[in-house]
Amino acid sequence: MKQYDYLIVGCGLFGAVFANEMRSIGKKVLIIDKRNHIGGNVYTEDVDGIKVHKYGAHIFHTNNKSTWEYVNQFGEMNRFTNSPIANYKGELYSLPFNMYTFNKMWGVNTPQEAMAKIEEQRKEITSEPRNLEEQAISLVGRDVYEKLIKEYTEKQWGRECKDLPSFIIKRLPVRFTFDNNYFNAKYQGIPVNGYTAIIENMIKGVDVKLGVDYLEDREHWNGLANKVIYTGAIDAYYDYCFGELQYRSVRFETETLDVPNYQGNAVVNYTSKDEPYTRIIEHKWFDIVNDSPKTIISKEYSQEWKKGDEPYYPVNDDVNGALYARYKELADKETNIVFGGRLGEYKYYDMDKVIESSLELVRKEIKLACKK
Ligand code: UDP
Repeated sequence: MKQYDYLIVGCGLFGAVFANEMRSIGKKVLIIDKRNHIGGNVYTEDVDGIKVHKYGAHIFHTNNKSTWEYVNQFGEMNRFTNSPIANYKGELYSLPFNMYTFNKMWGVNTPQEAMAKIEEQRKEITSEPRNLEEQAISLVGRDVYEKLIKEYTEKQWGRECKDLPSFIIKRLPVRFTFDNNYFNAKYQGIPVNGYTAIIENMIKGVDVKLGVDYLEDREHWNGLANKVIYTGAIDAYYDYCFGELQYRSVRFETETLDVPNYQGNAVVNYTSKDEPYTRIIEHKWFDIVNDSPKTIISKEYSQEWKKGDEPYYPVNDDVNGALYARYKELADKETNIVFGGRLGEYKYYDMDKVIESSLELVRKEIKLACKK
């Protein structure tokens, strides 16, 4: 008999949800994480009454009522609605692409006029869009593409828009209404007490060891549990035997400023390559009201991942897709380890999808246990 039913490698959202569910049905669970804090990339830290999103803006949104209710069990959510501003060489535009954006771009006032402009500009795309550039022009026309998409995307991904998959841009809505809500989701918000508090509530009663690297001593850790749930990078698990998958990493420059309001919005995207950063986050505006006399901002710099960096975004193009498929083949043959989450599955998951996929794994595990 081993000490634990499950060893969960990684204390992010995927691992915490899985741990919570398994503990609630009486399983013994151990979570380990190489960082010295819980929460993975959703981790928030309270600094002078401002909840700082240490690993970038996390805005919870979902269309799935049960996923929304699920997260609400662990902490109250506020009514934050993401409505980022794009700054292109000092010109400000509303995001996502909507009537305010089109009005500023072209001086059009009606949906019909905006549609006519886009219709005229998308004529250059004559067949099914094959990449992000063609997809973007076909959705919003060349002017919006040039000012609000092209350089931002190239900074974000370090690749030309022609070399990126079109699905990335389909994440953003295009609307012919005056609605600046970045997401189409029915439910949206940010935990009133921060994400760290949510994760804490999820893992109550679960053993947690921080600051330990599973890959450095996997035999020891494997010896403790009947099954491993691994939420780290899948290529690292297999010692990069087929080569490294590509990721984008992010570097933050965070500063406290002695002013109550720096940019008047939680997120401002810098869509020209004049600025080396992609966006500036002003953390206090993730709260609906925040009376702090100071403010904390983070400039976000996107960079290619190299060993030793934190991976953030998988680069889901064809080459990496094929490489991932080879790792996945190995993973599918495993009986005592399951891979999950953005890094374990090499997938550009949003938080709601991470929760859903973790709950799906819980159901699978329970089914398996019933068969035994
Ligand atoms: N994007 C853009 N301009 C913007 C914001 C986003 O071109 O001002 C593109 C960019 O390619 C980005 C993608 O849309 O990678 C998805 O943006 P999202 O905000 O969903 O990315 P995330 O918040 O996950 O970094």
